[in-house]
Amino acid sequence: MIRKLLRRVFRRAAPANTPPEPAVIPVTRHGVRRDQISPAANKVCTTLQEAGHKAFVVGGAVRDIIVGQTPKDFDVATSATPEEVRALFRRSRIIGRRFKIVHVMSGAETIEVSTFRAMQDAESTETDEHGRVLRDNVFGSMAEDATRRDFTVNALYYNPTDETVIDYHHGVADLQQKTLRMIGDPRVRYREDPVRMLRAARLGAKLGLSIDPAARGPIREMADLLENVPPARLFDEMLKLLMSGHAVKCLRQLREEGLHHGLLPLLDVILEQPMGERFVWLSLENTDERVRQGKPVSPGFLFATLLWHEVLVDWEARKANGEHSQPALFEAMDSVLDRQSGKLAITRRIAGDIKEIWALQPRFEKRAGKTPYRLLEQPRYRAGWDFLRLRAQSGELPMELPDWWEAFADAHPEAREGMLVPDRNGTTRKRRRRRKPAGAATAPVGE
Ligand code: ATP
Ligand code: MG
Repeated sequence: MIRKLLRRVFRRAAPANTPPEPAVIPVTRHGVRRDQISPAANKVCTTLQEAGHKAFVVGGAVRDIIVGQTPKDFDVATSATPEEVRALFRRSRIIGRRFKIVHVMSGAETIEVSTFRAMQDAESTETDEHGRVLRDNVFGSMAEDATRRDFTVNALYYNPTDETVIDYHHGVADLQQKTLRMIGDPRVRYREDPVRMLRAARLGAKLGLSIDPAARGPIREMADLLENVPPARLFDEMLKLLMSGHAVKCLRQLREEGLHHGLLPLLDVILEQPMGERFVWLSLENTDERVRQGKPVSPGFLFATLLWHEVLVDWEARKANGEHSQPALFEAMDSVLDRQSGKLAITRRIAGDIKEIWALQPRFEKRAGKTPYRLLEQPRYRAGWDFLRLRAQSGELPMELPDWWEAFADAHPEAREGMLVPDRNGTTRKRRRRRKPAGAATAPVGE
């Protein structure tokens, strides 16, 4: 009897999965100062708090600042409903149908404000036959909002007013100990949302954290669950991964976790094509470098490199079958993109960019007559040339070809005429190119 009573009291005090009181961590221990938060995010929090709501900067931004990285964007979590948020900010709009969030615009910034959400619970929510949660749209308490997040380091709530971090799951300590730890039972959390496996690999690589063995262990055996994730969501996640500035590290991590195998055709392509492997790693290193230098990276260019060797194989096969080179290339491009689209919803715009870059490639082989001048005028010339250079760096083409184009583009218009490489028929051109030592084509520039 007493035991029963005790159990009931206990259960009420600490229901399953709900953590007890959170730690309130002062700035001296986490180091995040108000001036490291964007003015817009600060403003959104204070306005909400002055109206009597709870409001915190949450998620990736707090985590990134603590590890010394610059956050991409700032998200705010609040106890206010979307309608209440909307009413407080003139330049704001409610977006999303299933789970409404509010975009608050301030200057050039947009702050995403979401209302505390209740925990996902595979038993009471709608799931697919593998346990993947299909709906996640119930408002909840702040503690529940913390518990439904994926990793402890992602469940930190920063209050700009007093510069404290509210920490329900020892996220600050985990960050300081360089551990990526799942909130709750990793198996359950992966079943609810298999994309968390990819997030683990990406965030581990990005933040330099090691994945806690409990979260790392089940990935290999559960990797197949990713097959049920909608292609558009996978594409978003892959894009984040590839454009993170740590693509090489992320993909190594994925390979180590056994996450690439037979899972996404794209990953198979990246990691298991012997011929293109050098090309793909070169391109990923190149992308990482650009991201780190703050230079723009186009998803089209990136996917064009990842899939190029598939196109080459297909293209060669068609040509060997007697098809003409140019139409064969277009057929090959379409067939490669079609094959990917079943799993990975490459958006139409990006597919267009990819094709543009591929379609320019054969045109770089023509260095006679009017064609080179026309190619220089192409709006996508620069992307096409960058792509050509990667091909050469990987050993697919002689370096002399991109070098020639660089010299041709830089040359005085009057000097260009003398640089053209006569091209009556393809064979002469090929033989001539192979015999020339690398760099020879730059000679005419100074003439
Ligand atoms: P980054 O923005 O650097 O890519 P992030 O952690 O901020 O990383 P977002 O996709 O912006 O990633 O998500 C914001 C926050 O939402 C996360 O920090 C996490 O708390 C929560 N979150 C995102 N995806 C999931 C998920 N699949 N399961 C549970 N919580 C998630
Ligand atoms: Mg984020």
